[in-house]
Formats: sequence, C-alpha cells, structure tokens
Amino acid sequence: MYRSHKLLILIVLMFLNMGLAASEIATVIKKSDDGVWRVVYSSKIPVKQIVFKRSPDNSRVNRWKPIAADFQILVENGSEIVSRIDGGPFTQAEFTLTSTYISLPKEYAPFSPFSDGGMLLHSGRFFACAESCDDSLNKWNIKVQATKKDNIIVGGVIHNGEASWEDSNSGIKVYIGEGEPIIDDNFVSLIDTGLPDQLKEMMSSYLPKILLYYSNKMGALNYRPSLFASYSHSDDGSYGQQGGILPGQIFMHWYGARAIKEIDENSTLWFFAHEVAHLYQGKAGKVEVLSDAWLHEGGAEFFAGITYQEILDDPKLFLDKLEKAQLNCLNILENENNYRKAVLTNTKIHYSCGLLLFDVLNDELKARKSNIFELWMAFNSAVENGGSVTSSTFIEVAKPFVSYELWLNLSQFIKNPEFNSKVFFQNLIDNKPKTKAGTVT
Ligand SMILES: [Zn+2]
Repeated sequence: MYRSHKLLILIVLMFLNMGLAASEIATVIKKSDDGVWRVVYSSKIPVKQIVFKRSPDNSRVNRWKPIAADFQILVENGSEIVSRIDGGPFTQAEFTLTSTYISLPKEYAPFSPFSDGGMLLHSGRFFACAESCDDSLNKWNIKVQATKKDNIIVGGVIHNGEASWEDSNSGIKVYIGEGEPIIDDNFVSLIDTGLPDQLKEMMSSYLPKILLYYSNKMGALNYRPSLFASYSHSDDGSYGQQGGILPGQIFMHWYGARAIKEIDENSTLWFFAHEVAHLYQGKAGKVEVLSDAWLHEGGAEFFAGITYQEILDDPKLFLDKLEKAQLNCLNILENENNYRKAVLTNTKIHYSCGLLLFDVLNDELKARKSNIFELWMAFNSAVENGGSVTSSTFIEVAKPFVSYELWLNLSQFIKNPEFNSKVFFQNLIDNKPKTKAGTVT
C-alpha cells in the first residue's frame, strides 16, 4: 500500500514536472494602437524566475523595461533571467520592448521594422522557460495581439488582429502590420514600399527566375514560401543589411539610408540565390554537426553561382567567387590545417572550402553526364529514408557518382580526425583545369 502510494506520488510529480517543462510559460506579445510593443509572460504555478531560451548578448537588460518596478532582468551564467527584485515567487511579468532594429550575435534580429510602421519579429527571441531551460524543451505557446487594422502573417497564413501558434526550434519570423501581402505563384511576400524601385524591380524580376531554375533542377516546393523585405532608417548613422532563412521563409532587412543608396545588385542577387537554394535542399539541408556545415553552405554557394550564371548569362561573378574561395579556404587552413578545429574559430570556412568541394564534385559529375543537383537529390532521398543528415551519409551516396580517387580523399577528409585539409584543398586547387567556366551540364 505504502509503496504504491509512493509510486502514485512519483507519477503525479513526473506529470507536474512535464507540464511545467512543456507549457507553463505562456507568451503574449502585444502591439498597442500607439505602436508600443509589450510582452507578457504568465505561469499558472508561481515561479522564482523565468529564463530565456537564448541569450546571445545582454541586450534585453537595457531594451526590455519591466512594467512593475519590482521586476528585473539579470544575467546569470550567461543567460538573461526575469525575477522579482526581492526574489519572491510570481505568476506574471510584463515588459515594454524597444522595437528598433538591432543585430544580435548568431541570432536573427528580434525586430525588423518596415518604413510604413509594419514589423517583422522573430518569435525565437521570446522563448522562455520556468526556472530553467531544459534542452528537451522545444514547444512554445506564443500569441500576438495587435490592432484590428493589422495583418499578422504566421507560416504563410494571414490573420487579422490576433494570432496564436505553437512554436519550436529556432522560431519563425512573423509579420504584423497594415501592409497587404502579395500572394503569387512563388511567394507570400511583403516588400517594403520604402525600398528603392531598382531593388523592388530586381526582386520581382529575378526571384521568380531563381525559383523556376531550382524547381526545374530539384522539383517544385510543395508549399509557398514567405518573402519579407524590410527597411528602417537609423538614428546613429549605422547602415547595412542582414538576411537569412527560417523554414519556409526568406527575409532581408536594410537599415540606414546609405544601405539603400547604392544597392550592390550582384551581392543582393547572390544572397537571394543562396538563401532560396536552402529551401530546395530539403531535409538534407538541415545539417546539425558544425564540422559538416560545408555541405549545406558550400552547396548553397555553388547552387547560387550556377543559378546566377544561368539567369544573368554572366560567368564572371561566379569565377570571382571561386577565386576568392580558394584564397580564403587556404588562408584559414594555413593557421590550422585540421578542418574540425578550424571551424571552431572561423565559420566562413564552410562557405569557401565548401564551395570548392562542390565545384570539384560538379566537375567529376559533369564528366559522368550527371550534375550536382542529381547528387543532392540522391542525398536528400537518403535522408528522407532515415539517413542521418551528415557528411557520412553524403559520402556513401556520392560513391557511385564520382571517381574512386576523389571518393577516397573525401572519405579521409570526412572520417579521419587527423587529416591535413590544407594539403587536400591545395591539391584540389592545383589539379583543377584553369579554363573552367563552372557550368552544370
Ligand atoms: Zn546559407
């Protein structure tokens, strides 16, 4: 009797714990009529602290103002936490947010304002846990309450005034504002009206071509991705651009007048071609091990180069990129010839050395009347059929596509932890035909 009673208590405690870990913090992000942004965190059970899932820096300390004077945001062990100043338990905490654009280290910007007052926010910024963040916790209940005039775009679906969803992983970008999205064959898109005509025209003319090119090579997407392009002025003279992707979403933000004065068409197009490539990489693009990131980043760089060259009928940019990639890859490996160690201090290595690897793979594939897209699709099929998203799966898939010599070298590069990558890449570069124009077929 005693034992079963104890077991029952244990089971109840386990469920309570599971409940707390999975869903006790509810998040409501609010936009008021006067454009002020707030966030409210609530827990049914009193908590001593709320911990943010990710704290790339300490900027919440300055940019989030507690509504009640007895609350604070502190940094403990590298994580930002919410607590009462007296350390007492609480069930709700509310903050006024600074909704300007900032660039965060290794995280997407929490707020990307549009020039007409619209906003693209990153839900991942708001992920928070009761007491502590357990690595297994990956479900977040988020609600946005805006004004009746606001469209809220979540996962390509347009809501009016209010929306709620269950979030996970790195979060999503959510648009809130009075802008009317354009829904066409390619995207659900919101392009800032304050962006220069030249840029808007470039996006509307080239993006459909980029999608069409990838669709022809790798099959059409079975969903319509979202595209967000925003612009905000800056008060401190800073300027620049930052973009990226999250599942099913592409976004780019320009900030500061100088950023849109002289648009670099080449790099903007390359950016879009690279990011759109990630959408077509499928499950195989979700590489999780850092030292394998050359797969999806090098692949996207190569796909971008091929696409750019085909659409603009101009090989020069791609050849320049390849040349720079050679220099950059060798420079990084000069100091540390072990690729696995080199990636720890310089993540650019994935783009440059990765591009070189895909270029060499493509040369061999061409000689065998195949192409890089076919190899990637075979890799994606292997992943769809349960293969891990790793270079080990890739190299097994690549075996029938390339020469035994290259396959053996690649296997060493991937599997041998003591492999000298500097010598490997130097040989790849030295043995490359100089007249190559970088074509797929
Ligand atoms: Zn990328």
